[in-house]
Amino acid sequence: MKKVKVIGGGLAGSEAALQLANNGIEVDLYEMRPEKMTGAHSSGNLGELVCSNSLGSNDFSAASGLLKQELRILGSYLVKFADETSVPAGNALAVDREIFSQKITAAIAENPLINLINGEIREIPEDMPVIIASGPLTSEALSEEIKKITGSEHLYFFDAIAPIVERDSINFEKAFMASRYDKGEAAYINCPMDKEEYEVFYEKLINSPVAELKEFEKNSKFFESCLPVEVLAKRGKDTLRYGPLKPVGLIDPRTGRKNYAVVQLRMDNHAGSLYNLVGFQTNLKWPAQKELIKCIPGLENAEIARYGVMHRNTFIHSPSVLMPTLQSKRREDLFFAGQISGVEGYTESIATGLLAGINAARILKGERPLTLEPVSMLGALCGYITHPNHKDFQPVNSNFGILKPLDVVLKGRKNKQHKKRLFAEKALSYLTPIAK
Ligand SMILES: Cc1cc2nc3c(=O)[nH]c(=O)nc-3n(C[C@H](O)[C@H](O)[C@H](O)COP(=O)(O)OP(=O)(O)OC[C@H]3O[C@@H](n4cnc5c(N)ncnc54)[C@H](O)[C@@H]3O)c2cc1C
Repeated sequence: MKKVKVIGGGLAGSEAALQLANNGIEVDLYEMRPEKMTGAHSSGNLGELVCSNSLGSNDFSAASGLLKQELRILGSYLVKFADETSVPAGNALAVDREIFSQKITAAIAENPLINLINGEIREIPEDMPVIIASGPLTSEALSEEIKKITGSEHLYFFDAIAPIVERDSINFEKAFMASRYDKGEAAYINCPMDKEEYEVFYEKLINSPVAELKEFEKNSKFFESCLPVEVLAKRGKDTLRYGPLKPVGLIDPRTGRKNYAVVQLRMDNHAGSLYNLVGFQTNLKWPAQKELIKCIPGLENAEIARYGVMHRNTFIHSPSVLMPTLQSKRREDLFFAGQISGVEGYTESIATGLLAGINAARILKGERPLTLEPVSMLGALCGYITHPNHKDFQPVNSNFGILKPLDVVLKGRKNKQHKKRLFAEKALSYLTPIAK
């Protein structure tokens, strides 16, 4: 009998196990809860949602909505359970979290091909294919084992993420391209501030509400180089102007002079459609981040592809470790899925669990694992996290900026919805024949 071991009965691991069973593969699914709890889970149920009960938008013209629709086409069990347990939430797919995780737990318990084994995995099995889906709160012992495969420099424990914006939404009447001291090509987008603009920005920043950290995260130490901007700002009015917002070596082409402060943005994806705010890690609440970014000259209408977040998060440096099929480069029958693979979010975790499950089944059946094209959101996510060109890799959630650009050029805010619909049509028509 062909068999796979799946480590972690969260969103990714449960989806992977059900996909494997659907392909006639036997599964040993290991879940350490309830014997050993994480700092965020509160039950022994599989697929427990640790925070919000929303899986994000259900609308195809939103990135997360498109990803969910792709998952429906590909036969995701967890999205089906989410649809069946949804509660009214406007355009979003929110669920009754209890019933949702009970459904997952029951589906796994009733499946004759899945053996649920309660207990912590402390070593990575070598006797058969393995999917590691142990999530952002992977146990310490397993983290140590993972390091042996990835190298300790390729396993991280804390997210300190800066927001990412879509390049198309930046106002280049104010922003300009340049590298500090004109070194190399003009690779950075620079958003300049005069004294008055900086003061408005600063006041807003120090008065913005911060998202609360969980109890177990409160004692986590930040690296000095990863301090959130709101923490730096509280050290003094000029700290940011001598830190991540320093204007030195940057001459504003409109005035020929140095500015008072500059927010720099660095290219975040190969296509150049996404830019991250350099050194701008933040834990402000998302609506406050939106307001703050709006008051940066050049970013008044910025479309935010990913907000800054800070939380405990175990994740691998997937560009060095993984292939787009979610297989380890060093061991082809070892897969990573879920948050530990470098994606961010519930739906993204389910999505990578689905692909890892399908691909582990394919290799056991002697078939080639699927590499999905970046015209689909799932293909784009896997392509993004495994692209070798990342310097400062940070986890990502679904967003339109990672998709392969459309063949037609549609500029302007009026075309935005139309463009998203075209992306969605292309993605769904690409995946439909693959799913059959
Ligand atoms: C505090 C917190 C809040 C979050 N809030 C949100 C949110 O609101 N919205 C959102 O979209 N995303 C959120 N996320 C991010 C992420 O989407 C979720 O954490 C999601 O559950 C990840 O899915 P997963 O399957 O990768 O991990 P999990 O769902 O966490 O599943 C991993 C499972 O592995 C088990 N495990 C760990 N180590 C071992 C081991 N050694 N042996 C056996 N079992 C093990 C764990 O007990 C767990 O059940 C949050 C993350 C955190 C940490």
